[in-house]
Amino acid sequence: MDKCSFCGRERKDTNLLIAGISGHICDSCIEQANAILEEEFKKKNSFELDQIKLMKPAEIKEFLDQYVIGQDEAKKFLSVAVYNHYKRLMQPETDDDVEIEKSNILLVGETGTGKTLLARTIAKMLHVPFTIVDATVLTEAGYVGEDIESILTRLLQAADYNVEAAEKGIVFIDEIDKIARKSDNPSITRDVSGEGVQQGLLKLLEGAVVNVPPQGGRKHPEQKMIPVNTKNILFIAGGAFDGIEKKIAQRLNTKVVGYQASKRKEMLDPSNMLQYIAPQDLKSFGLIPEIIGRLPVITYLHPLTRETLRKILTEPKNAIIKQYKKLFSIDGIELEFEDSVLDYIVDKAVEFKLGARGIRTICETIMIDTMFDAPSKNKKHITIKLGFAKEKIEKANFARLKAS
Ligand code: ADP
Repeated sequence: MDKCSFCGRERKDTNLLIAGISGHICDSCIEQANAILEEEFKKKNSFELDQIKLMKPAEIKEFLDQYVIGQDEAKKFLSVAVYNHYKRLMQPETDDDVEIEKSNILLVGETGTGKTLLARTIAKMLHVPFTIVDATVLTEAGYVGEDIESILTRLLQAADYNVEAAEKGIVFIDEIDKIARKSDNPSITRDVSGEGVQQGLLKLLEGAVVNVPPQGGRKHPEQKMIPVNTKNILFIAGGAFDGIEKKIAQRLNTKVVGYQASKRKEMLDPSNMLQYIAPQDLKSFGLIPEIIGRLPVITYLHPLTRETLRKILTEPKNAIIKQYKKLFSIDGIELEFEDSVLDYIVDKAVEFKLGARGIRTICETIMIDTMFDAPSKNKKHITIKLGFAKEKIEKANFARLKAS
Protein backbone atom coordinates (compact mmCIF):
# COMPACT_ATOMS: atom_id res chain seq x y z
CA MET A 1 0.00 0.00 0.00
CA ASP A 2 1.31 3.52 -0.88
CA LYS A 3 2.11 5.73 2.05
CA CYS A 4 4.14 8.85 2.79
CA SER A 5 7.76 7.92 3.42
CA PHE A 6 8.10 10.83 5.84
CA CYS A 7 5.05 10.64 8.12
CA GLY A 8 3.70 7.23 7.24
CA ARG A 9 0.18 8.41 6.35
CA GLU A 10 -1.64 6.23 3.89
CA ARG A 11 -2.86 7.65 0.60
CA LYS A 12 -6.46 7.79 1.81
CA ASP A 13 -5.44 10.00 4.74
CA THR A 14 -3.76 12.60 2.52
CA ASN A 15 -4.96 15.15 -0.01
CA LEU A 16 -2.12 14.29 -2.32
CA LEU A 17 0.64 11.72 -2.35
CA ILE A 18 3.49 12.29 -4.78
CA ALA A 19 5.61 9.36 -5.86
CA GLY A 20 9.38 9.52 -6.07
CA ILE A 21 11.87 6.89 -7.28
CA SER A 22 11.87 4.93 -4.06
CA GLY A 23 9.26 6.59 -1.88
CA HIS A 24 6.33 8.97 -1.51
CA ILE A 25 5.65 12.33 0.06
CA CYS A 26 2.29 13.73 1.18
CA ASP A 27 0.99 17.28 0.87
CA SER A 28 1.32 18.11 4.57
CA CYS A 29 4.96 16.97 4.63
CA ILE A 30 5.65 19.13 1.56
CA GLU A 31 4.15 22.09 3.35
CA GLN A 32 6.18 21.44 6.45
CA ALA A 33 9.36 21.01 4.48
CA ASN A 34 8.64 24.24 2.65
CA ALA A 35 8.24 26.08 5.95
CA ILE A 36 11.61 24.73 7.10
CA LEU A 37 13.20 25.83 3.84
CA GLU A 38 11.82 29.34 4.14
CA GLU A 39 12.99 29.62 7.72
CA GLU A 40 16.49 28.48 6.76
CA PHE A 41 16.72 30.90 3.85
CA LYS A 42 15.50 33.73 6.00
CA LYS A 43 18.21 32.99 8.52
CA LYS A 44 20.84 32.90 5.81
CA ASN A 45 19.71 36.12 4.23
CA SER A 46 19.00 38.08 7.34
CA PHE A 47 21.52 40.83 7.60
CA GLU A 48 22.66 41.31 11.12
CA LEU A 49 23.77 44.76 12.07
CA ASP A 50 26.57 43.34 14.18
CA GLN A 51 28.05 42.27 10.89
CA ILE A 52 28.80 45.93 10.39
CA LYS A 53 32.10 46.64 12.00
CA LEU A 54 31.48 49.85 13.84
CA MET A 55 34.59 51.82 14.55
CA LYS A 56 34.97 55.09 16.41
CA PRO A 57 35.34 58.23 14.25
CA ALA A 58 39.08 58.43 14.93
CA GLU A 59 39.48 54.81 13.87
CA ILE A 60 37.44 55.39 10.73
CA LYS A 61 39.70 58.30 9.84
CA GLU A 62 42.77 56.20 10.48
CA PHE A 63 41.43 53.61 8.11
CA LEU A 64 40.74 56.25 5.45
CA ASP A 65 44.27 57.59 5.92
CA GLN A 66 45.64 54.29 4.67
CA TYR A 67 44.02 54.76 1.29
CA VAL A 68 43.39 58.47 0.81
CA ILE A 69 46.06 61.14 1.03
CA GLY A 70 45.18 64.42 2.74
CA GLN A 71 41.58 65.68 2.65
CA ASP A 72 41.49 65.76 6.43
CA GLU A 73 38.34 67.86 6.75
CA ALA A 74 36.36 65.62 4.43
CA LYS A 75 37.64 62.56 6.26
CA LYS A 76 36.64 63.97 9.62
CA PHE A 77 33.13 64.89 8.48
CA LEU A 78 32.67 61.53 6.79
CA SER A 79 33.91 59.60 9.81
CA VAL A 80 31.53 61.36 12.18
CA ALA A 81 28.57 61.12 9.81
CA VAL A 82 29.10 57.43 9.15
CA TYR A 83 29.63 56.71 12.82
CA ASN A 84 26.43 58.53 13.77
CA HIS A 85 24.51 56.88 10.99
CA TYR A 86 25.35 53.39 12.12
CA LYS A 87 25.03 54.23 15.78
CA ARG A 88 21.54 55.35 14.95
CA LEU A 89 20.81 52.05 13.23
CA MET A 90 22.05 50.04 16.15
CA GLN A 91 20.10 52.01 18.71
CA PRO A 92 17.17 50.04 20.08
CA GLU A 93 13.88 51.91 19.76
CA THR A 94 13.42 54.09 22.81
CA ASP A 95 10.44 56.11 23.87
CA ASP A 96 12.26 59.30 24.72
CA ASP A 97 11.10 60.96 21.48
CA VAL A 98 14.62 61.80 20.44
CA GLU A 99 14.96 60.51 16.97
CA ILE A 100 18.42 60.74 15.51
CA GLU A 101 18.06 61.94 11.97
CA LYS A 102 19.84 60.54 8.99
CA SER A 103 22.96 62.39 7.98
CA ASN A 104 23.44 62.12 4.24
CA ILE A 105 26.65 63.74 3.12
CA LEU A 106 27.63 66.12 0.34
CA LEU A 107 31.25 66.18 -0.81
CA VAL A 108 32.22 69.19 -2.86
CA GLY A 109 35.52 69.15 -4.69
CA GLU A 110 37.17 69.21 -8.09
CA THR A 111 37.03 65.99 -10.07
CA GLY A 112 39.77 63.51 -9.30
CA THR A 113 40.41 64.73 -5.76
CA GLY A 114 39.24 61.55 -4.06
CA LYS A 115 35.48 61.87 -3.50
CA THR A 116 34.65 58.47 -4.95
CA LEU A 117 37.71 56.97 -3.35
CA LEU A 118 36.56 58.18 0.07
CA ALA A 119 33.08 56.73 -0.37
CA ARG A 120 34.44 53.48 -1.71
CA THR A 121 36.89 53.15 1.16
CA ILE A 122 34.16 53.77 3.73
CA ALA A 123 32.04 51.01 2.19
CA LYS A 124 35.00 48.64 2.16
CA MET A 125 35.52 49.28 5.84
CA LEU A 126 31.92 48.73 6.81
CA HIS A 127 31.30 45.66 4.67
CA VAL A 128 27.95 46.98 3.52
CA PRO A 129 26.51 46.95 0.00
CA PHE A 130 27.81 49.92 -1.91
CA THR A 131 27.10 51.36 -5.31
CA ILE A 132 28.13 54.37 -7.34
CA VAL A 133 25.62 56.07 -9.59
CA ASP A 134 26.20 58.87 -11.99
CA ALA A 135 23.56 61.55 -11.62
CA THR A 136 24.04 62.67 -15.21
CA VAL A 137 22.27 59.59 -16.57
CA LEU A 138 19.21 60.12 -14.41
CA THR A 139 16.14 61.61 -15.99
CA GLU A 140 12.52 61.99 -15.05
CA ALA A 141 10.45 58.89 -15.68
CA GLY A 142 9.34 58.71 -19.28
CA TYR A 143 12.42 60.35 -20.74
CA VAL A 144 15.52 58.85 -22.32
CA GLY A 145 17.93 57.92 -19.58
CA GLU A 146 17.58 56.05 -16.33
CA ASP A 147 14.75 56.34 -13.84
CA ILE A 148 15.65 57.40 -10.32
CA GLU A 149 14.72 53.93 -9.06
CA SER A 150 17.63 52.47 -11.02
CA ILE A 151 19.86 53.75 -8.22
CA LEU A 152 18.28 51.21 -5.93
CA THR A 153 18.40 48.50 -8.57
CA ARG A 154 22.17 48.86 -8.51
CA LEU A 155 22.27 48.71 -4.75
CA LEU A 156 20.11 45.58 -4.76
CA GLN A 157 22.46 44.00 -7.25
CA ALA A 158 25.43 44.93 -5.08
CA ALA A 159 23.64 43.24 -2.17
CA ASP A 160 22.94 40.08 -4.18
CA TYR A 161 19.25 40.94 -3.94
CA ASN A 162 19.34 40.72 -0.16
CA VAL A 163 16.83 43.51 0.50
CA GLU A 164 17.63 43.78 4.18
CA ALA A 165 21.31 44.32 3.42
CA ALA A 166 20.57 46.80 0.66
CA GLU A 167 18.40 48.79 3.04
CA LYS A 168 21.49 49.48 5.16
CA GLY A 169 23.84 50.12 2.30
CA ILE A 170 25.63 53.19 1.00
CA VAL A 171 24.92 54.91 -2.30
CA PHE A 172 27.42 57.33 -3.78
CA ILE A 173 25.74 59.73 -6.18
CA ASP A 174 28.43 61.21 -8.37
CA GLU A 175 28.12 64.50 -10.24
CA ILE A 176 25.10 65.68 -8.32
CA ASP A 177 25.93 69.19 -9.52
CA LYS A 178 24.91 68.15 -13.01
CA ILE A 179 21.25 67.94 -12.01
CA ALA A 180 21.19 71.52 -10.81
CA ARG A 181 18.32 73.61 -12.12
CA LYS A 182 19.19 75.22 -15.39
CA SER A 183 16.28 77.61 -15.50
CA ASP A 184 18.44 80.49 -16.62
CA ASN A 185 19.07 78.62 -19.84
CA PRO A 186 16.27 79.68 -22.22
CA SER A 187 16.95 76.91 -24.72
CA ILE A 188 15.72 74.31 -22.27
CA THR A 189 11.97 74.30 -22.38
CA ARG A 190 11.57 71.21 -20.28
CA ASP A 191 14.09 70.68 -17.52
CA VAL A 192 14.16 66.90 -17.92
CA SER A 193 17.38 66.25 -16.13
CA GLY A 194 17.25 69.08 -13.66
CA GLU A 195 14.59 69.94 -11.15
CA GLY A 196 12.41 66.94 -11.98
CA VAL A 197 15.27 64.62 -11.15
CA GLN A 198 15.97 66.51 -7.96
CA GLN A 199 12.35 66.03 -6.91
CA GLY A 200 12.63 62.32 -7.62
CA LEU A 201 15.87 62.06 -5.74
CA LEU A 202 14.38 63.84 -2.78
CA LYS A 203 12.03 60.95 -2.14
CA LEU A 204 15.00 58.59 -1.92
CA LEU A 205 17.05 60.84 0.33
CA GLU A 206 14.16 61.46 2.70
CA GLY A 207 13.44 57.82 3.24
CA ALA A 208 10.54 56.14 1.52
CA VAL A 209 9.43 52.75 0.37
CA VAL A 210 10.28 52.66 -3.30
CA ASN A 211 9.23 49.97 -5.75
CA VAL A 212 12.40 48.90 -7.48
CA PRO A 213 12.59 47.03 -10.77
CA PRO A 214 15.09 44.25 -9.91
CA GLN A 215 16.58 44.14 -13.42
CA GLY A 216 16.44 47.89 -13.80
CA GLY A 217 15.50 49.81 -16.90
CA ARG A 218 12.34 49.75 -18.91
CA LYS A 219 13.31 46.76 -20.97
CA HIS A 220 11.64 44.32 -18.62
CA PRO A 221 8.13 45.64 -18.09
CA GLU A 222 6.99 42.26 -16.79
CA GLN A 223 9.36 42.12 -13.82
CA LYS A 224 7.98 42.05 -10.32
CA MET A 225 8.88 45.15 -8.34
CA ILE A 226 10.75 44.79 -5.05
CA PRO A 227 9.84 47.31 -2.32
CA VAL A 228 12.95 48.85 -0.77
CA ASN A 229 12.87 51.20 2.19
CA THR A 230 15.48 53.93 1.84
CA LYS A 231 15.11 55.19 5.41
CA ASN A 232 18.41 53.69 6.52
CA ILE A 233 20.38 53.93 3.33
CA LEU A 234 23.25 56.38 3.61
CA PHE A 235 23.57 58.65 0.62
CA ILE A 236 26.86 60.33 -0.12
CA ALA A 237 26.66 62.83 -2.93
CA GLY A 238 29.64 64.30 -4.69
CA GLY A 239 30.13 67.04 -7.21
CA ALA A 240 32.65 69.51 -8.57
CA PHE A 241 30.17 72.41 -8.70
CA ASP A 242 32.25 74.21 -11.29
CA GLY A 243 32.02 77.94 -10.82
CA ILE A 244 30.53 77.84 -7.33
CA GLU A 245 33.63 79.59 -6.02
CA LYS A 246 32.32 82.79 -7.58
CA LYS A 247 29.04 82.46 -5.74
CA ILE A 248 30.86 81.82 -2.49
CA ALA A 249 33.06 84.86 -3.03
CA GLN A 250 30.06 87.00 -3.88
CA ARG A 251 28.26 85.96 -0.74
CA LEU A 252 31.28 86.55 1.46
CA ASN A 253 31.90 89.96 -0.09
CA THR A 254 28.38 91.22 0.11
CA LYS A 255 27.99 90.18 3.71
CA VAL A 256 30.90 92.03 5.14
CA VAL A 257 31.38 95.68 4.38
CA GLY A 258 33.69 98.41 5.56
CA TYR A 259 36.60 97.85 7.85
CA GLN A 260 35.56 94.30 8.73
CA ALA A 261 35.48 93.40 5.04
CA SER A 262 39.09 94.12 4.34
CA LYS A 263 40.07 92.29 7.48
CA ARG A 264 37.96 89.31 6.50
CA LYS A 265 39.26 89.27 2.94
CA GLU A 266 42.78 88.91 4.19
CA MET A 267 41.78 85.89 6.13
CA LEU A 268 40.21 84.15 3.15
CA ASP A 269 42.29 81.65 1.30
CA PRO A 270 41.63 82.29 -2.38
CA SER A 271 43.32 79.08 -3.48
CA ASN A 272 40.47 77.02 -2.12
CA MET A 273 37.24 78.95 -1.82
CA LEU A 274 35.32 75.69 -1.54
CA GLN A 275 36.20 75.51 2.13
CA TYR A 276 33.76 78.35 2.79
CA ILE A 277 30.86 76.62 1.09
CA ALA A 278 27.46 77.05 2.70
CA PRO A 279 23.95 75.78 1.85
CA GLN A 280 22.93 79.08 0.25
CA ASP A 281 25.73 78.73 -2.33
CA LEU A 282 24.30 75.39 -3.37
CA LYS A 283 20.94 77.04 -3.74
CA SER A 284 22.34 79.76 -5.98
CA PHE A 285 23.99 77.02 -7.98
CA GLY A 286 20.61 75.44 -8.67
CA LEU A 287 19.98 72.75 -6.11
CA ILE A 288 16.49 72.92 -4.67
CA PRO A 289 16.35 73.76 -0.95
CA GLU A 290 14.68 70.44 -0.11
CA ILE A 291 17.61 68.50 -1.54
CA ILE A 292 20.08 70.69 0.32
CA GLY A 293 18.09 70.06 3.49
CA ARG A 294 18.45 66.34 2.98
CA LEU A 295 22.21 66.58 2.63
CA PRO A 296 22.90 68.13 6.02
CA VAL A 297 26.59 67.32 6.17
CA ILE A 298 28.49 69.42 3.67
CA THR A 299 32.22 69.14 3.34
CA TYR A 300 34.87 69.95 0.78
CA LEU A 301 38.01 68.54 -0.74
CA HIS A 302 41.21 70.36 -1.53
CA PRO A 303 42.57 70.53 -5.04
CA LEU A 304 45.50 68.13 -5.34
CA THR A 305 48.86 69.80 -5.01
CA ARG A 306 52.09 68.53 -6.45
CA GLU A 307 53.05 67.21 -3.02
CA THR A 308 49.78 65.32 -2.68
CA LEU A 309 50.15 63.79 -6.12
CA ARG A 310 53.65 62.67 -5.25
CA LYS A 311 52.37 60.98 -2.10
CA ILE A 312 49.49 59.35 -3.97
CA LEU A 313 52.05 57.60 -6.16
CA THR A 314 53.74 55.73 -3.32
CA GLU A 315 51.95 56.08 0.02
CA PRO A 316 48.41 54.64 -0.06
CA LYS A 317 48.04 50.97 0.83
CA ASN A 318 47.40 50.13 -2.80
CA ALA A 319 49.51 52.91 -4.31
CA ILE A 320 50.20 52.43 -7.98
CA ILE A 321 53.98 52.07 -7.52
CA LYS A 322 53.38 49.38 -4.89
CA GLN A 323 51.16 47.59 -7.39
CA TYR A 324 53.87 47.52 -10.05
CA LYS A 325 56.40 46.24 -7.55
CA LYS A 326 54.06 43.46 -6.55
CA LEU A 327 53.32 42.53 -10.16
CA PHE A 328 57.04 42.17 -10.86
CA SER A 329 57.79 40.36 -7.61
CA ILE A 330 55.39 37.61 -8.69
CA ASP A 331 57.86 36.96 -11.51
CA GLY A 332 60.73 37.05 -9.02
CA ILE A 333 61.88 40.47 -10.18
CA GLU A 334 62.75 43.28 -7.82
CA LEU A 335 61.51 46.53 -9.34
CA GLU A 336 62.76 49.96 -8.39
CA PHE A 337 62.09 53.50 -9.51
CA GLU A 338 64.57 56.33 -9.33
CA ASP A 339 63.09 59.14 -7.25
CA SER A 340 63.48 61.50 -10.19
CA VAL A 341 61.14 59.26 -12.20
CA LEU A 342 58.42 59.69 -9.60
CA ASP A 343 58.89 63.47 -9.67
CA TYR A 344 58.76 63.37 -13.45
CA ILE A 345 55.45 61.45 -13.40
CA VAL A 346 53.99 64.10 -11.12
CA ASP A 347 55.34 66.88 -13.37
CA LYS A 348 53.64 65.34 -16.38
CA ALA A 349 50.35 64.83 -14.53
CA VAL A 350 50.39 68.51 -13.58
CA GLU A 351 51.52 69.65 -17.03
CA PHE A 352 48.77 67.76 -18.80
CA LYS A 353 46.24 68.68 -16.13
CA LEU A 354 45.46 65.00 -15.67
CA GLY A 355 45.29 65.00 -11.89
CA ALA A 356 45.52 61.79 -9.92
CA ARG A 357 43.58 59.88 -12.52
CA GLY A 358 46.23 60.59 -15.13
CA ILE A 359 48.99 59.14 -13.02
CA ARG A 360 47.98 55.64 -13.97
CA THR A 361 48.03 56.42 -17.70
CA ILE A 362 51.44 58.00 -17.42
CA CYS A 363 52.79 55.03 -15.44
CA GLU A 364 51.36 52.55 -17.92
CA THR A 365 53.01 54.40 -20.80
CA ILE A 366 56.35 54.20 -19.06
CA MET A 367 55.95 50.60 -17.95
CA ILE A 368 54.31 48.86 -20.90
CA ASP A 369 57.49 47.69 -22.70
CA THR A 370 59.14 46.60 -19.48
CA MET A 371 56.05 44.65 -18.49
CA PHE A 372 56.03 43.04 -21.93
CA ASP A 373 59.69 42.04 -21.98
CA ALA A 374 60.63 41.36 -18.35
CA PRO A 375 58.86 38.00 -17.87
CA SER A 376 60.85 36.47 -20.76
CA LYS A 377 64.20 37.80 -19.64
CA ASN A 378 66.15 36.44 -16.75
CA LYS A 379 66.71 39.65 -14.88
CA LYS A 380 66.28 39.65 -11.13
CA HIS A 381 66.46 43.38 -10.70
CA ILE A 382 65.09 46.26 -12.78
CA THR A 383 65.49 49.97 -12.07
CA ILE A 384 63.38 52.47 -13.98
CA LYS A 385 65.61 55.45 -14.72
CA LEU A 386 64.69 59.01 -15.61
CA GLY A 387 66.09 58.89 -19.16
CA PHE A 388 64.09 55.75 -19.88
CA ALA A 389 60.84 57.25 -18.52
CA LYS A 390 61.31 60.46 -20.49
CA GLU A 391 61.92 58.53 -23.68
CA LYS A 392 58.71 56.54 -23.26
CA ILE A 393 56.58 59.59 -22.52
CA GLU A 394 58.05 61.66 -25.32
CA LYS A 395 57.51 58.85 -27.79
CA ALA A 396 53.90 58.39 -26.75
CA ASN A 397 51.31 60.66 -28.19
CA PHE A 398 50.33 62.55 -25.11
CA ALA A 399 48.73 65.32 -27.08
CA ARG A 400 45.56 63.28 -27.18
CA LEU A 401 45.52 63.05 -23.39
CA LYS A 402 46.06 66.74 -23.02
CA ALA A 403 42.89 67.46 -24.85
CA SER A 404 40.66 65.32 -22.67
P1 ADP B 1 36.48 62.12 -7.74
O1 ADP B 1 35.43 61.17 -7.30
O2 ADP B 1 36.74 63.21 -6.75
O3 ADP B 1 36.31 62.65 -9.12
P2 ADP B 1 38.21 59.84 -7.48
O4 ADP B 1 38.00 59.50 -6.06
O5 ADP B 1 37.53 58.95 -8.47
O6 ADP B 1 37.87 61.35 -7.79
O7 ADP B 1 39.77 59.86 -7.79
C1 ADP B 1 40.33 59.32 -8.95
C2 ADP B 1 41.56 58.51 -8.62
O8 ADP B 1 42.60 59.37 -8.22
C3 ADP B 1 41.36 57.56 -7.47
O9 ADP B 1 40.98 56.30 -7.87
C4 ADP B 1 42.72 57.53 -6.81
O10 ADP B 1 43.55 56.57 -7.46
C5 ADP B 1 43.30 58.87 -7.08
N1 ADP B 1 43.14 59.84 -5.99
C6 ADP B 1 42.46 61.01 -6.05
N2 ADP B 1 42.55 61.68 -4.90
C7 ADP B 1 43.28 60.92 -4.07
C8 ADP B 1 43.72 61.07 -2.71
N3 ADP B 1 43.41 62.17 -1.99
N4 ADP B 1 44.45 60.08 -2.18
C9 ADP B 1 44.78 58.98 -2.89
N5 ADP B 1 44.40 58.78 -4.17
C10 ADP B 1 43.66 59.73 -4.76
